[in-house]
Formats: sequence, structure tokens, C-alpha cells
Amino acid sequence: MGRVYNFSAGPAVLPEEVLKEAAKEMLDYNGTGMSVMEMSHRSKAFEKILTSAEQNLRDLMHIPDNYKVLFLQGGASQQFAMIPMNFMKKKEADYIITGQWAKKAADEAEKYGTIHRIASSQDQQFSYIPDCSNLSISKDADYVYICENNTIYGTKFKKLPNTKGKILISDVSSCFLSEPMDVKKYGMIYGGVQKNIGPAGVVIAIIREDLITDDVLPGTPTMLTYKVHADAHSLYNTPPAYGIYICGKVFQWIQSLGGLDEMKKRNERKAKILYDFLDQSVMFQGTVRKEDRSLMNIPFVTGNKELDAKFIKEAKESGLENLKGHRIVGGMRASIYNAMPYEGVQSLVAFMEKFEKENLKDVSI
Ligand SMILES: *Cc1c(COP(=O)(O)O)cnc(C)c1O
Repeated sequence: MGRVYNFSAGPAVLPEEVLKEAAKEMLDYNGTGMSVMEMSHRSKAFEKILTSAEQNLRDLMHIPDNYKVLFLQGGASQQFAMIPMNFMKKKEADYIITGQWAKKAADEAEKYGTIHRIASSQDQQFSYIPDCSNLSISKDADYVYICENNTIYGTKFKKLPNTKGKILISDVSSCFLSEPMDVKKYGMIYGGVQKNIGPAGVVIAIIREDLITDDVLPGTPTMLTYKVHADAHSLYNTPPAYGIYICGKVFQWIQSLGGLDEMKKRNERKAKILYDFLDQSVMFQGTVRKEDRSLMNIPFVTGNKELDAKFIKEAKESGLENLKGHRIVGGMRASIYNAMPYEGVQSLVAFMEKFEKENLKDVSI
């Protein structure tokens, strides 16, 4: 069997060119006679992999010099604790709740201080992004926290919240490198790479230098202290070496295609054909308010559970995999990250058209 179109929300599709290159280098990386998996993280060869990965990311995102780039582990979920441990000096923070990931982050932070949930879209199943232009930001909040692209619900902040001078911290796991970002608007940007960049096991954190200090909550473990990793240039302990190597290749792949402006263009073009189809379909509906739609994760439903199940099963048989919606939402979700080719989305839309024609007469929706 050949490769399928993989619409998984994560771990997710990676560029075929990158996988092929990695396969070629599997037994002998660049004349070292060994795989990247087998080499010391203190070796010259790995040092070069790490420093060029960081440089390539800095170039792609135009990361200012006063920001550190850290390659960490523990998944995005570990950041839910690291963020309050490192930044909640006054033991207060504001969270905007736009889905499960923001909710989990807020619940975790609550172990370390007082959390103000200053806005939420839970009243309508997180199907929109609340108006964040004039929120009541807490006077003593150390930061304002958002999840910028909501992987499960398919919403995206198109405009950043007005934090009234407070530091903004953003989880970008599922929109990392999908379009340009203005890094200096944030105190910290972070994400697990398994959505849009590389293999599971790596988390990238981009943090403004002055926020990285020894002044962390008492009892914060060494491994959960940003300063420890920043001082050691992500080599305090053994980093997720092979994952970083693949991330580096993906950065180069994006650069070779034209960088983040080009990614944005491609992602808009891909998302448009699916949204356009949903907007005229009788059978399938998108679940998100139009102005808040994500370019990366596109949930949709038929309104009939059996029909959803039939669709998912037949799509799989046609080589369109992992279209089942998140277990807490149901329905379908197509994750169309950077590495999903335009042809993949085209195939999905063609399949949906055909499915609608074949099934519309048989069911009431
Ligand atoms: C997947 C995801 C997470 C959780 O990532 P883990 O690496 O599994 O901890 C957090 N936030 C967002 C936005 C995600 O998409």
C-alpha cells in the first residue's frame, strides 16, 4: 500500500521530501557512519544539527535577538505547569478559555495561584473566539494566556487579545509555522511540534529573554526551569535529538518553498476549497463561526451519527485517513497542516461531493 492522505490532528502528516531524506540518512548521517539516533548529543555533528535548526527557525519566524529558542520535552501539556511555575510571580494570571487545551492549561496553573478566566466561548461549544478587545485584565496578573489555534474545535484567534500591557503567552501547537507571526507581541510562544512541524517528543518555546530568570516558584524542579535550559542552550540533559533533527529538516523544507508567507498562501488556498464546499453542501456543515475559522483544523458534521460513521469508514477505504472528529466533539475533522498537499484536500472534497450525491436521497438530515 502506498501513502494515504493523513488528516490526523497529531501526530500528523510530515513532508514526504523530509521523510525520504531522513530515510536516506538513516544508517549514515553525513559521513559520520551512524544514525542521528545513535550519536552523542555532545558531538560536533549533533551540535551543528541543533544550532542550524535554531538558526533556521529564527530566520523563518524573524525571531528578534532578545528572544531565546528552547527545544524541550514533556509535550505541550508540560508547559501548562512550567508556565505558572516560571512566570506567576504574583501568583495571579488571566486565561482566555477557547477550548480543551486552554481549559487544561488554566486548571493546571490553578495549582500554583489564582486564575482568572477572563473570557470563554464555552457557552456555544467553543465554536467561536470571544471578543478580546476590551477585557477586564487583572491588575496583578503576571500574564495573559491564550491557545491561539484550537485544534479540537477548529477556531483561531485572527486578532490577538488586548492585554493592556500584560505579557501574552500563546500555545501555538496546531498553527506553528502555518503563517507569519509578529514574535515581539508575545512574551512567550510555544508548541508541541507533532502537529505541524515534526515527530512527537519535542516542544519549542520562544521566550523573551528578560522573562527568563531564577525567580521561579519555590520547589520548581530543575528540569522545569526555563533558565536552566536557556543557559545550557537546550543541552542541559539529553534533548530529543532525532526529533530536533527532523524539525530542522522541516524548517529547511519551508524555507525552500518560500517561507511563512508562502505557507500562509498555500494554507489559505487549501482551506478555502474545503470551506467553500461546506458552505454550499446540504449534507455537511462546518461547526465554527466563519470569521474564526482555523486554516489548520476543520471540523464538520452531517448531523446524523450513523452517516458520520459511514463517511469516516468509506473515506478510509478511499485512502483518506483519520477524519474522525475528536472524541469529545464527534463528527469529522480534517487537519490540513503545512505538509498536507493541495491534492489531498482536493481528493477529500471530491469524495465528500460523491458521498453526498450517493447518500442524500437515503437519509433525512
Ligand atoms: C495537541 C495539543 C496540546 C497537547 O500536546 P501534548 O504534546 O500531547 O501535550 C496542547 N495544545 C494544543 C493547542 C494542542 O493542539
